[in-house]
Amino acid sequence: MSKNKRRFISGATCPKCDSMDTMVLFLENNVEKVECVKCHHQMVQPEGAVQGATRQFEQVIGVFTPDE
Ligand SMILES: [Zn+2]
Repeated sequence: MSKNKRRFISGATCPKCDSMDTMVLFLENNVEKVECVKCHHQMVQPEGAVQGATRQFEQVIGVFTPDE
């Protein structure tokens, strides 16, 4: 398993290309970043901004991979 595991943010919309479900969350130098896989628009995760969506998504992951 890669340390820099990327996680799709369910329901997130790219502010640049307006695509939905293309945003991935990943950790770089201990900073949470979000990147659009379509247009490669990147932004640093402001604390708490997308946290709700992230938590939701992690819960979904927990359901699908209970061994993690
Ligand atoms: Zn985009």
